[in-house]
Parts: sequence; C-alpha cells; structure tokens
Amino acid sequence: MSAVTQGKVTGPTAGQTATPRPLVWLLVLLVLPLGMTALAWGRFGTNLAMWWPAAGVGVIAAALAPRRSRPLVALGVALCGFLANWTFGRDPGVAALLGLATGADALVTAALLSRHRDLRPVLTGLDDLVRFVLAALAGATAAGLFVAVGLAMDGAEPLITWRTVFASHLAAILAITPLGLGSSEVRQRAGRTELAVQWLSLALVVGVVFAPDQGLPLVYLVFVPLLWGAMRLSVRAVAWQVFLTALVITTATTSGWGPFANLGDASPQVVAALSQAAIASCALVALPLAVLKSQRAVALQQASSSSDLLDNILAAATSTVVIGTDLVGNIEFFNIGAEEISGWTAAEVVGHACLAIVTTEGEDGQEEHLVTVDLDQPGAGSLEALIEPFLVDTEDDTFRDDWTLLRRDGERRTLAVTISRRYDHGRGVGYVGIAEDVTEKRREEESAAAALDAERQLVDRLAQVDRTKNDFMSTVSHELRTPITSILGYSQLLLSDETGALPVMHRQIVGRIERNGRRLLGLIEDMLTMSQVEVGDFRYVFQRVDLRSVVQSAVETETSVFGSLGVQLTQDVVGQPVWVEADPDKLERALAALLDNAAKYSQPGDVVHLAVSRDDDAARVAVVDHGLGISSEDQEHLFDRFFRGSDAHARAIQGAGLGLSVTSMIVDGHGGSISCVSSLGEGSTFTVALPFAAEGVGAADAAADA
Ligand code: ADP
Repeated sequence: MSAVTQGKVTGPTAGQTATPRPLVWLLVLLVLPLGMTALAWGRFGTNLAMWWPAAGVGVIAAALAPRRSRPLVALGVALCGFLANWTFGRDPGVAALLGLATGADALVTAALLSRHRDLRPVLTGLDDLVRFVLAALAGATAAGLFVAVGLAMDGAEPLITWRTVFASHLAAILAITPLGLGSSEVRQRAGRTELAVQWLSLALVVGVVFAPDQGLPLVYLVFVPLLWGAMRLSVRAVAWQVFLTALVITTATTSGWGPFANLGDASPQVVAALSQAAIASCALVALPLAVLKSQRAVALQQASSSSDLLDNILAAATSTVVIGTDLVGNIEFFNIGAEEISGWTAAEVVGHACLAIVTTEGEDGQEEHLVTVDLDQPGAGSLEALIEPFLVDTEDDTFRDDWTLLRRDGERRTLAVTISRRYDHGRGVGYVGIAEDVTEKRREEESAAAALDAERQLVDRLAQVDRTKNDFMSTVSHELRTPITSILGYSQLLLSDETGALPVMHRQIVGRIERNGRRLLGLIEDMLTMSQVEVGDFRYVFQRVDLRSVVQSAVETETSVFGSLGVQLTQDVVGQPVWVEADPDKLERALAALLDNAAKYSQPGDVVHLAVSRDDDAARVAVVDHGLGISSEDQEHLFDRFFRGSDAHARAIQGAGLGLSVTSMIVDGHGGSISCVSSLGEGSTFTVALPFAAEGVGAADAAADA
C-alpha cells in the first residue's frame, strides 16, 4: 500500500501529494459491489444492511479528491449507493434516499476531516484522531437523519431507522476509513515472530469469540490482541486488524454466530446495533493507542536526531571550546575543541568538578581571570558561587570576556569566553561555557595598537618639526626682505642716474647687484608664500579688475629680465577690458613667474609671445616660448614644490623650483586653472584660464564694452 519510511507521513493520502483521479473514481465504483454485498449478506432480520462498508469507502474517495471536486465524488458515491439498493430490488425512491444518505455522509465527513483546504487528511496525532471521530459521528448522524426522515414518510419508526443507519455508517467509517488516511509510520517495534504471533492470536481470539454457537459474551477478549497490536505495530497494521475484525464480527453475526447472534429475545435491530458498537469500540480502543504510540515514536526519533545533530556539531567544532556543567561544577560535556585547547580529555574530566577560576592581577595591572583544570582540587560545590557574580547584571544571562586558560602543559592561552546558565523547565541546572582561542588575535591586535601609537607619535613629531620649519622660514624671509629691499632700492637709484657720474664698469656691477637682489627677493617672496600657505595665513584681497592691466604690470616687472637676457616679448592683447575677480598683486606675481620662466628657458634672440584673450567661459592668458621645452616625465611634476627640470639643473639655470607651484596655487585660489603644452627642444605654452567677474560676463560683456 505505502512505503514505510522512518518518521515520515506516508500512505496514499499523505501530505499534499495529489491523489491520482483514477484511484478516487475506482473507490467510488467500489461503493456499488460493496453495497450489493452488504445488502445480500449483511442483513440480520432487518430491512437495512447491518454494516455499510460503502460509507467507509465513500469517505476515503471524497477525502482523497481535491476540495472542489468533492461534491461530484459524493454524487458518484450516491449514485453507486442508489444502484446497489435498486438492483437489490428496492423501490427507486427508497434506493435514491439511501444512495443520497451515503453521498451526504461522504461529503460531510470528508469536509470535516480535512484540516486545511487542500491538505489531505492524516492520522498522525491525537488531534487528527479526535477530528476523525467527530467527523465520522457527524457524517453518520447526517446519513441517519436523511434516511430516518425519508423513510418516516413510508411509516418506518424514525428513531429505530436512525439508530440502525447511524450505527452501520459510523462503524464502517471508523473501521475502514483509517486504511485510506496518511499516518506517520515509524518502523514497527515488533519483530517478524512477534508480528506473526500477534496476528495469530488475534485470529484465534476472534475465531473463538465469534465461533458458531458461541453464546458466551467474550467480546472483551478481542481487545487483548488488538491492544497488543496497537502497542507494537504500525498504525496502518492496526487499522487493517480493526477492519478485518469488523468484517468477521459482521459476517459472523449475520450468519448467526458469535455472542450477538445468540442474545435470546433481542430484536434484530438491537443485535445489529450491538455488533456495530463492538466494531466502533474496537476502532476507538486500538486506533488512539496506535496513533499515540506512533506520535511518541516520531517525537523520540526527532529528539534523538536533534541530539545526534548536536553531537555532530559539538564534535565538528574542533576550534571552539564547549563545556557544560551542573550547578555544582561537575562537567557534563567537554567537546573535542575543549580537549584540543586544554590538553585534557573528556574521559578524564567528565563527571568531575575540576574547573577552577582564579582572579589575579595581570602583568598590566588589570584583573585577570585564570581558568585551570585541576582534578585534585577540593572545588566541588563552588562553581555556582564562582560564576554567579559574573552573570549578575548581564543582559540575557550571558557573560562575555577574555579569560586566560592554563593548559595542561602549563602554556597560557587567551580565550574569548561566553558563559550562560542552562535551564530545565525554567530552573537553572548548570552552566554552559563556549570559548574560542584568541591568543594570536589579541597579540596581533596589541601589536597593531602599539604600531598605531608609535605612528601617531611620529606624526606628532613631524608636525612639530614642520611647524618649526615654517616658523623659521617665515622669520628668515621677513628678516631678509628688509635689507634686500634696501639693497635693491639703492642699486636702482644708482642705475637711474643719467648724469654719467657712475663709471661704466661700476654701472655693470650695480646692474648685476640689482638683478641678483631681485632674484633673491623673488625667492624670499616664494618661501614666505609657502610658509603662509602652510599655516593658513595666505589671504587674498579680491576686487574686480581688468585682466589686461594686471598682465601689463607683470610685463613691466619682467621687462628688465627680458632685456638682460636678450629675449624679445611680443603681445597680442584683446581690445576690450577683461573683467575678472582677482587679487591684482598676487595674480601679477603668478603671471610674472610665467614670463620669467619663458625668458629664463629661452635662448638670447628668441621671441616670447604673450596673448590675452577671452572666450565664452573664461579669460585666458597664454605665454608661448620657443626655448628648451619640457620632457614629458618632467611635465608630470611641473607644479610640485621645489621641482626643477633636468635641463634646468644641467644648464645651471638659476631657480629654486618654487615659481610654478606658487603660480598654480594662486591660480587655484582665483578659481582658475593652469595648463602646459610643451615638447622638448621646441618650446612651451603655459595657459592660465580665469573665470569672469560675476557682472559683465563673457560675450554680452564684450558687446557692452565695445
Ligand atoms: P624654477 O624655474 O625656479 O626652477 P619653477 O617652479 O618655475 O622653478 O619651474 C619648475 C621647472 O619647470 C623648472 O625647473 C623647469 O625645468 C621647468 N620649466 C618651467 N617653465 C619652463 C619653460 N617655460 N620652459 C622650459 N622649462 C620650464
């Protein structure tokens, strides 16, 4: 019928598995021969069948059918019931009534039996059984009422009719329907021999009790082998035994055998009712016991597989310590992780109160909790007192900390420990400790923290050095600026003398003093700017200016440089004002640095071209030279502080590598950008792009100015 699998719900109705339609309709068709047989042989001096197995099979068919096709199945059952009664020779009206009663019974019982919409009914627990019995009672009651009311019109005594129909239907459903319900089949406990002996004894007892001329009321004897079966066999086997017993009871009684047939002057209806009551009693005694036994076996099986799972997990956790104790401290479990980390084996420690926790002061002056395993310690009874203080005031009764474990070989390991209480029915029964060896992890964390600390100190020291350097640069620059300005002033005064009082050679010397003085002043200005930037002291004073005038000032500043180097400067400046928001002095310095470089890195006789232009989004100043040019490697570092190109070094062109970094910083400060296009040996073009001043922007402004 169905595969017997350990702890699984099996059977044709198990779970959600759809029952094949042909099976359902086969069961419906079975109602016809069953009905005819019951009518032919199963009557006992009454007009109605004593046992109505068609009802039991009809319920199975309806219960197995999908919910929506149940009415159709019930109709099929009713039709077969009708045909059975009609072929038996009943009046078509009565036959239809009896057929409809069987259909109604199937529909009502199956509907009440199904726990959920489409879940097929099962017999796996006591609640399923109660539901089944109530459904059977309701179905049988409905069928009884149906027939009693129908036949009352023909003058039949309604109560007697109801009792006979009710008993025949109820006994049939109780004895037959369980064969079609799913049940949780655990392997039956009885072996083959026991099984054979039990079946034999049931056959023997039933045979004796329902033997011909057996007048002694020995029905209760049947319960003995049935109860034995219920204790030791599967629910399905018990269901079969109940069914077969019911078959024997009905057949024997109909044949005039057994205790019910020999009740002296009892009416046939009473005999029928008594025999059906016996069947119902057999079912109601054997089935609940069998279901309970199987439910318990399933629960036990689940518990044992959970416990196996737990054992497997504990055994697999080789790097995690799991130790369980009772309140006294006796170790109850000690997993493989605990064995590996502590050096003790479970066999040595389980059953002993050998854990000691000592609080000492560690090397760093902090409290240290040292855990040892000591089989000789007189520590029994002390664990609760040791652990409870840690658990007080903890969330969820769980304590977490790093503790030190003294291994069996004397090595100390750091464990991240989690300790919690174990409860049984709400009562604390012991503790469970879970721990992980974090010795290496903590060591790494400590060295990482130490390295971080050292790095922080280094950064602080460097910042201090940087501050000192900035202060020094700023002081030195300030101190140098005054005398150099004065040297420059005097040399320019001497050079401006037009009287010719200064001899030519002296004039040349003074010119050199003036040039070098200016270079020195430029360098000092750059250094001062750098230190101001670093301490956040470099401030702009913006105003709306015509870029052309700023460019012109830069040109004037650089005129003498161009003159002394023999480099020519040509200009192409846009005709209209180019309004920008700028700090004129600083912007002039930036542009002068570009002109200075263009002259410095050109050959005497070269031409440098300066262009001031405007397009839709920015004002542009381009300085184009045809000098040394810059290699692509050098171009990557052009704006780095103190960067000097390889050619500048090789040709000993004077400079400190600060000009472009100051220029790009000033251009940045104006919200602009600087770019360089250059090729080695052909010259360079530096372009500064600046945003227009907020008013009078771009083309519109240009038109207005024009
Ligand atoms: P400095 O000119 O004092 O060396 P800068 O910051 O002004 O410092 O320039 C950095 C480097 O960029 C220079 O050393 C030089 O190699 C290169 N450089 C700058 N401008 C030009 C230019 N117009 N032509 C060729 N090389 C240049």
